[in-house]
Amino acid sequence: MTPCRLRHDRRMTDPTVSASGIRVLGREALALLLSATCPGCDEPGTLLCDPCRGRLQASPVDVRTPQGRVVRAALTYEGVAARCIRRMKDDGETLLARPLGVALAVVLSSFAGSAVSVVPVPTSGEAFRRRGYRVPELLIRRAGVRPLRALSAARARRDQRGLDASARARNAEGSVRARLRGAGVSVVLVDDVITTGATLDEASLVLDRAGFDVVAAVALAATPLHGGHGAFTRDSSETRRK
Ligand SMILES: [Zn+2]
Repeated sequence: MTPCRLRHDRRMTDPTVSASGIRVLGREALALLLSATCPGCDEPGTLLCDPCRGRLQASPVDVRTPQGRVVRAALTYEGVAARCIRRMKDDGETLLARPLGVALAVVLSSFAGSAVSVVPVPTSGEAFRRRGYRVPELLIRRAGVRPLRALSAARARRDQRGLDASARARNAEGSVRARLRGAGVSVVLVDDVITTGATLDEASLVLDRAGFDVVAAVALAATPLHGGHGAFTRDSSETRRK
């Protein structure tokens, strides 16, 4: 046996080495926790405090896109929910995708079944390079569902923030393309935050053209103003399957 191999074996079997390794990991986890603040209320020493976690429980609302499609959102994009979503999207705190994914799972469960695939709205190449992860896809996985990546971003889109409804619709046009052919496969389309819904309209249109049957659209959160397209309907079962 070579000395190198011997050292390797000793490290693998020596319990004191692995215990110290665990202590280092424990110290690092503790340091992470102590430097953390709750995204909802800034309470120090926690990744998410219990009262704020409670605010992330799904309270579904139905909103309409410019094309009249009903989108069911798990949360309203305000207060604690908005702060947690921003922390996940803009500050890389992907651990928050777990409690947010639980909220998404509630609205997904009204539509998703074994016969329905769940398709994320695609992430632009620029956003993926900046974050290193795709937000809608991550949320779907944390909701316990395997996403079907049927769409991809076709071209760089301007940042939607600050654009009005018609500018968003123009901006969304041609921004998405199909990667797969649907052949009648039923899908639920998922986005993270719905503002006017222009992106969801564009994605639905592309899926329709590719032969998919879009049975529903859901979002993690809907902005309260929602571009002036009518008020929220809280959990209205009449519009659920539009
Ligand atoms: Zn908190």
